[in-house]
Amino acid sequence: MTADAPITQDVMTIPRKLPEGPVNLVGLTRDKLREALLSIGTPEKQAKMRVNQIWQWIYQWGVRDFAEMTNLSKAYRAQLAEHFVIEIPEVVSKQVSADGTRKYLVRIAGGHEVEVVYIPETDRGTLCVSSQVGCTLTCSFCHTGTQKLVRNLTAGEIVGQIMMARDDLDEWPEPGVGTGEAGPRLLSNIVLMGMGEPLYNFDNVRDAMKIAMDGEGISLSRRRITLSTSGVVPEIAKCAEEIGCLLAVSFHATTDEVRDKLVPINKRWNIETLLDALRAYPKLSNSERITFEYVMLKDVNDTDEDARRLVKLIKGIPAKINLIPFNEWPGSPYQRSDWDRIEKFADIIYKAGYASPIRTPRGEDIMAACGQLKSATERARKSRAQIAAEAGLSE
Ligand code: SAH
Ligand code: SF4
Repeated sequence: MTADAPITQDVMTIPRKLPEGPVNLVGLTRDKLREALLSIGTPEKQAKMRVNQIWQWIYQWGVRDFAEMTNLSKAYRAQLAEHFVIEIPEVVSKQVSADGTRKYLVRIAGGHEVEVVYIPETDRGTLCVSSQVGCTLTCSFCHTGTQKLVRNLTAGEIVGQIMMARDDLDEWPEPGVGTGEAGPRLLSNIVLMGMGEPLYNFDNVRDAMKIAMDGEGISLSRRRITLSTSGVVPEIAKCAEEIGCLLAVSFHATTDEVRDKLVPINKRWNIETLLDALRAYPKLSNSERITFEYVMLKDVNDTDEDARRLVKLIKGIPAKINLIPFNEWPGSPYQRSDWDRIEKFADIIYKAGYASPIRTPRGEDIMAACGQLKSATERARKSRAQIAAEAGLSE
């Protein structure tokens, strides 16, 4: 810079950091919540206690209004309300299937929409949570894969889906009274199997799951959380170390040739590379076994030969194989395997010593089943022909 360069220029171009409205406390880790509280002048030596108090109100008792946080002074509550909000995604619509499955369409900042599904079973209630709006990957059998990635969800939007469902199920304990541990929970399990590839939104998924697991809040055990990935190999070890939840993998094929077409990320990390990462997972995460998800597609991946190859491939990995009858969606280029074929396939795996449950499709009548999710507002950008062409199929 020359000596006579105009000083004003520098002053004018310094970007001023203006906060874009109040900060949402939902989704902040404990450390970030602490920073936020310090930034409004909370005394350093009170910060830890204030974090605990506010955390408990938000995640243990489901309170959304600072005015209700009665163990904080009125002045402090007013100060919090001035700078912060407690916001979760807004429910746009809710559909209830004949089998009790609930599908919610929720709206997040920017007007985008994602789907969340609650599946009640006799011994548990599972919430299927989304991690992205759309998906960058293009698995040829998946409805979400026809929708381009719009954006990653924030940690607040991910944990907010759990809070939204607890609102709808009316499952927050009475403030100051219960901890919600009294009986079996309506919402007892989380599966990251909604829209998106969770390992491509790693940090936000991790922060949200840490909040869901925190013992002074939603308090779900890490063994009740299952993350499903299409096979983002470099993130698998990180998932074990930093989240420690159970892992499911969208395996779906027994040769690279077929997997390349069904799960195109296989071209980047093939079956062998994926299996190496999976072999290390149970030890790293101290969990028992991996779930291999296998979608049953007629005449594509469902022969006896496939079943035998699958068993050989996973040898030595503690595993359960979850067979998913293909769920059709408008324009899908595949058909579900016949029922007796699925049973035969399951039988071969079972006889080899693995649990091989066939996943009963839930909420099909409301398009809530696996792989059928896609927000109606985000139009399909690909035609049926395009999907088939990309999958290397002729229509
Ligand atoms: N992106 C992650 C998680 C979301 S998909 C993943 O791919 O693993 C959750 C599961 O549903 C995956 O195993 C996925 O392969 C499967 N799936 C997708 N579309 C499907 C469909 N139409 N029918 C049945 N299962 C499907
Ligand atoms: Fe994305 Fe998973 Fe669907 Fe593949 S199966 S397109 S990774 S959401």
